[in-house]
Amino acid sequence: MDDCIIVGGGLIGMLAARELSATGLAVRLIERGELGHEASWAGGGILSPLYPWRYPAAVTRLARYGQARYPALARCLYEESGVDPEWEPSGLLVPSASEYDAARAWAEQQHVELEHLDADGMRRCEPALAPMGEGGLWLPGIAQMRNPRLVRALRVGLAGSRVVVETGNPVQGLRVNAGRICGVDTARGPRAAGQVVVAGGAWSAGLLAALGPPPPIRPVRGQMVVFRAMPGQLQRIVLHGDRYLIPRRDGRIVVGSTLEEVGFDKSTTGEACTSLTQAACALMPALSDLAVEHQWSGLRPGSPEGIPVVAEHPRVRGLFINAGHYRNGVIMGLGSVRVMVDLMLARPPVIDPTPYDYPVM
Ligand SMILES: Cc1cc2nc3c(=O)[nH]c(=O)nc-3n(C[C@H](O)[C@H](O)[C@H](O)COP(=O)(O)OP(=O)(O)OC[C@H]3O[C@@H](n4cnc5c(N)ncnc54)[C@H](O)[C@@H]3O)c2cc1C
Repeated sequence: MDDCIIVGGGLIGMLAARELSATGLAVRLIERGELGHEASWAGGGILSPLYPWRYPAAVTRLARYGQARYPALARCLYEESGVDPEWEPSGLLVPSASEYDAARAWAEQQHVELEHLDADGMRRCEPALAPMGEGGLWLPGIAQMRNPRLVRALRVGLAGSRVVVETGNPVQGLRVNAGRICGVDTARGPRAAGQVVVAGGAWSAGLLAALGPPPPIRPVRGQMVVFRAMPGQLQRIVLHGDRYLIPRRDGRIVVGSTLEEVGFDKSTTGEACTSLTQAACALMPALSDLAVEHQWSGLRPGSPEGIPVVAEHPRVRGLFINAGHYRNGVIMGLGSVRVMVDLMLARPPVIDPTPYDYPVM
C-alpha cells in the first residue's frame, strides 16, 4: 500500500509527486496516457497571467509564489535530467497603454517593475513589430519556460526518483470506505493508498462525479501555431488583445491562443490557424514571409475566475483535489502544490488555502 496516489500525470500531478516524495512519503503517480502529454505540453509557458492586473488576488498569490521559485526549479531540473526547460526572462510587452492606470496600481502593490513606453520606445524595444502609433507597457520581469521541455525534465527527474509511475493506466473510480479514501480502481486493478490526489486537469470533474456534485471544472480548448523565425528576430513576449507571440531561444515564435468551449474535442481547425496567423502577421509583418511550422491544441482545465480547487473533498477524508488552473497552470502550479502539500501533511499553511476551497454546490 502506498502513502499517496496521484491521479493524472500533467504538470500538476508531476509537481505534486515530486514535492510529496521529497517529504518522505511513498508516492504512486497514475496516468492514463503518457506523462505531460495534455494541457501541460500544449501551453505557452508564459510565467504570468496575461494582463495580470485583471486577475483576482487568489490567482496573483499563486502566480507570485511560482515566479519567485521557477528560476531555481529550472536549474534543479536541468541538473537532474539534462533537459533544459529554457527558463528565459524575456519580459512582456503590451503595445497598448489603455490599461496603464490599472496596471500601474497593480504593479505598485505587487512590487512588479512596469514601464510606460511611448511609440519611439516601443520601436527601439522591438523593431520587428508593426508601428502601432501609440505607446505601450513593458513588464521586464516576466519570464517564460518551454512547456514540452519542462514536462520532459520533470518526467526524467521522476524516473530517477522513488516515485512509482504507472502510465497507460486509466483510473476508473475512487475507492471510499466509511467516508475515507482507501485507493483507486484502475484498468490494471485496484491500488490502495491512505491519501489520493485528483490532478486530472480538464477531466477532474468526471473523476469526482460519483461522490456528489463535482467542482465546475470544464475543458476549454486552446489552439496555437508556431513559426520558425531567426533567433533574436523577436526578443520579448508580445501581448495584444487576446493574441500573443512568444519567442523561443531557437528563434521559433509561438502564437496563441484561442478560447473555445467545444467539450473534449482536441482537434485543430483551419479557422483558428487563419485567425492566429493573421493576428501574428499584423503584429510582426516579417512573419508573413514564413509558413506555419506546426499547429496544435490543448484542453485547459477551465474554472470560475481561473481559481483552481486545492482542497480536501468535503465528504471524503484523505481525498484531495488540485485542479482547475485554467489559463495559468504553469505559473500557478508550484503555489497550488505547496497549498496542497501543506493541507495533506497538516502543516501550517504558507499560503492561505481558503480561496481554493472545494465549492459547496
Ligand atoms: C493553448 C494553451 C496555452 C496555455 N498557456 C499557458 C501559459 O502561457 N502559462 C500558464 O501558466 N499556463 C498556460 N496554459 C494552462 C496550463 O497549460 C494548464 O493550466 C496546466 O497545464 C494544467 O495542468 P494539469 O496537470 O492540471 O492538466 P493536464 O496537463 O491536462 O494533465 C492532466 C492529466 O490527467 C490525466 N488524466 C485525466 N483523467 C485521468 C484518469 N482517469 N486516469 C489517469 N489519468 C488521467 C490526463 O491524461 C492528463 O495527462 C495553457 C494551456 C493551453 C491549452
